[in-house]
Amino acid sequence: MRHVAILGSTGSIGSNCLQVLNSLPERLSLGGVTAHRRWRELAEQTRRWHPRWAVVTDESLRSEVTNGTFSPRTEVLFGESGIERLCSAPEVDVVVSAIVGAAGLRGTWIALEQGKRVAIANKETLVVAGPLVMELARRTNAALLPVDSEHSAIFQALQAGRANEVRRVVLTSSGGPFRGRSFTQLQDVTPQEALAHPTWNMGPKITIDSATMMNKALEVIEAKWLFGLRDDQIDVVVHPQSIVHSFVEFVDGSVMAQLSPPDMRLPIQYALTYPERCESVAEKLNWRSAFDLHFEPPDLDAFPALRLGFEVASRGGTCGAVLNAANEAAVERFLAGSLGFCDIPCSCRAVLDQHDFDPTPSLSELLRLDRWARQEISRWT
Ligand code: NAD
Ligand code: MG
Repeated sequence: MRHVAILGSTGSIGSNCLQVLNSLPERLSLGGVTAHRRWRELAEQTRRWHPRWAVVTDESLRSEVTNGTFSPRTEVLFGESGIERLCSAPEVDVVVSAIVGAAGLRGTWIALEQGKRVAIANKETLVVAGPLVMELARRTNAALLPVDSEHSAIFQALQAGRANEVRRVVLTSSGGPFRGRSFTQLQDVTPQEALAHPTWNMGPKITIDSATMMNKALEVIEAKWLFGLRDDQIDVVVHPQSIVHSFVEFVDGSVMAQLSPPDMRLPIQYALTYPERCESVAEKLNWRSAFDLHFEPPDLDAFPALRLGFEVASRGGTCGAVLNAANEAAVERFLAGSLGFCDIPCSCRAVLDQHDFDPTPSLSELLRLDRWARQEISRWT
């Protein structure tokens, strides 16, 4: 039995994760849940699951939250210290890192310090501090297992050969809702249009990232650190059906891919039960009806964010933290209506070019640059 804590349990990954736990009661039990603001939903989760802890991360809600709405078997905690307590509890074996944005770094870090298994959906953590996070996991012998569908696919495909036999990994991308449009045709895109993703149902931030293809940029950086790849070993191909979740090409030209319908419950489950596979509630491919798999190269002129991803993966150092924070702030402004769609990659590029580059930053320097980049974006007109 593995005891699981879900950071960000009220989100899209969080609720898919709860469905996985629900389907495997003999293997997985829920030890803790967290939400930033939606505490009533969190309380409902505790009444259904009775985990040992629930954390409301937004401290300002302390006076509003009524403990009586939570399960009597659940202890309610607040803020970062609550996350720290949950992630370091010896009763928790696996931490699912499913908070959105750089805010997910703290819990992931604590869990890795404790040598726990971390199922990581929160790609921003690896974008901000990939080398430091990987080094920490190595030091404590913690397992960092991907939940992002592309990285789960690569992780699975890599098992077909040795590390020195890999020629390259190819990340697939649905292309988002604006595939086929030119940069000029993207100028007047509204938040509502950008929030309508063709194949995945996800939280708002990653949905906008998918529309700009910044999501793929972040995933290129994530793949680089997670799998220790050289720059020339990472490629992206557009695959609108989201069935081939990514693939690995070996030196002999053999390509190993992982296929399944777009359903996050599968990669979440694999990260939780690895190295074992078991029956899953995730949707299955239907081989009895005809379907097509289409592939095309990405359009870097229409989606300049992707180019930023390759560049940042290659330069490393402070670039990931700056790009990530700039993007988070720009997406927030786009959703609030104060920034255009095409300003997202443009403002990120400007902030990245302005920043004080350091090839080997400390964690505190990265966090300082995170705050700086957000401020720069708030001033962008
Ligand atoms: P979401 O917006 O649906 O959920 C985010 C969760 O994080 C919520 O529980 C929210 O309460 C919590 N949260 C938000 N801000 C917080 C803060 N400042 N501090 C603490 N908690 C906070 O997001 P999502 O779509 O579930 O994505 C979560 C992460 O997983 C992201 O990093 C995303 O890139 C990654 N991911 C998501 C999907 C997907 O299918 N949704 C796929 C791959 C990767
Ligand atoms: Mg992905």
